[in-house]
Amino acid sequence: MRDNIIQLIYLVAAVGFGLSLRWMSSAATARRGILAGEIGFVLAIGATLALPGYTNEGYVYIAIALVIGTALGIPLGLRVPMTAMPQRIALSHAFGALAVGAVGIGKFFLYHEVYGKFELAVLGVEILLGGLVFTGSLMAAGKLHEVLPQRPLMFKGQNYANFAILGLCIAIVAYLMFRPQDTWLVLVLAALALAVGVLLIIPIGGADMPTVIALLNSYAGLSASALGLVLNNKLLIVAGALDGTAGLILAIIMCRAMNRSFRNVMFGAFGAVDETAAGGGDASGLGPVRTASPDEAAEIMKMGRSVVIVPGYGMAVAQAQHKVRELADALEAEGVDVKFAIHPVAGRMPGHMNVLLAEANVPYEKLLDMDEINSEFPQVDTVLVLGANDVVNPSARHEKSSPIYGMPILNVDQAQSIFVVKRSMRAGFAGVENELFYNPKTQMVFGDAKSVVGELANEVSGQRDAISL
Ligand code: NDP
Repeated sequence: MRDNIIQLIYLVAAVGFGLSLRWMSSAATARRGILAGEIGFVLAIGATLALPGYTNEGYVYIAIALVIGTALGIPLGLRVPMTAMPQRIALSHAFGALAVGAVGIGKFFLYHEVYGKFELAVLGVEILLGGLVFTGSLMAAGKLHEVLPQRPLMFKGQNYANFAILGLCIAIVAYLMFRPQDTWLVLVLAALALAVGVLLIIPIGGADMPTVIALLNSYAGLSASALGLVLNNKLLIVAGALDGTAGLILAIIMCRAMNRSFRNVMFGAFGAVDETAAGGGDASGLGPVRTASPDEAAEIMKMGRSVVIVPGYGMAVAQAQHKVRELADALEAEGVDVKFAIHPVAGRMPGHMNVLLAEANVPYEKLLDMDEINSEFPQVDTVLVLGANDVVNPSARHEKSSPIYGMPILNVDQAQSIFVVKRSMRAGFAGVENELFYNPKTQMVFGDAKSVVGELANEVSGQRDAISL
């Protein structure tokens, strides 16, 4: 009876996880999605604690772990800025994978005599994936947070070395299925798995880290599923499978949006190119750069019928989203039609721009995806590119040597006039020069996105005039 109730609660929790993923795929329902996920987790933890077999001492240890986890989780959730979210997610994966790997090692030492070959193989895979995802995620977080070098570290025969170590790990897993009493080999397996995580990530450049994190997420899901099989816990199998497929789908979406293949992301050393452009400012024969002041830009935006705002990573860094909302309201009050063009990989994580603009209460229907807005640009009077760079770089269409070649971009160069707000001529994440900045229709408005947009909003709404009168 008790077991049936627990399984029923697990089923409800699994439905909660499924709905959570479904609802989180749209900004309008995302909050509901978070709530469904939270309810699912509370039910899952509650039901698991009600399983038979715990001792009182066991409950004390679980309570201590819960307190430590909560004490770490709450400040992480509240204090980490949106711009650091990818590395924060990588840290969560690292902790999850560490837990999975540690449980796997513990189970192996305790029960290797009673487990059959299938369970032993699954445990081996779990330890391998747990170790690999733990160090891989830590490396990814370090690269994204720039405490580790972002540039790919390459050496000759690197891929062969990685595959050789991975092959050795698989051989150990197979050996342990037949001779589980050689428990010392489990520790060798764990050490090699930790090394594989480091070795797999060092040749990958910082620009590909968010995609790698999505992939590591899917490995973490697989290792959780493996743990579910060993523990005979159906919810863990379902949750791990959901996590695994969601991570994989996200990585595929990100690769498509950047026109990259998995092979290219994992072994392509993206980010190892074009040092000169990253230094920034070299006109590279692209022609003169025109500049404008915020009041000139405001005047032109006000005079037109339509303005499309293209936010990018710089808007997130400057936390300019509330000022952007003020600017949009001021323009609309002047009768200008305002829309936002959202590139799928603008910023540093999928949905980055949508989240920030939603926080500033910009209506969802004003946010248009690349496919929806791209054909409209020739009719747009003014485009305001706000801290975006790679996602509006026309060279992605024709510059075959460019690391962003083939990435679909927002066709802002087809608009009547273009203003680009950024602090300097420095390159974006991919480290390449941007042709758009040298387009005769483009005017650069140099400065921090928040203060420039604040000035634009004041100019458009006439507050500046009121102050100076
Ligand atoms: P970019 O990184 O190309 O450019 C951002 C620009 O913002 C910089 O050129 C910078 O110029 C400017 N900037 C930074 N801080 C400020 C500030 N305070 N005020 C004004 N401007 C500022 O960003 P995009 O959004 O255009 O492109 C995203 C890039 O990230 C793409 O290459 C994409 O492939 C990559 N990426 C995105 C992922 C995602 O999921 N979103 C995942 C993986 C990679 P300056 O220093 O001169 O101010």
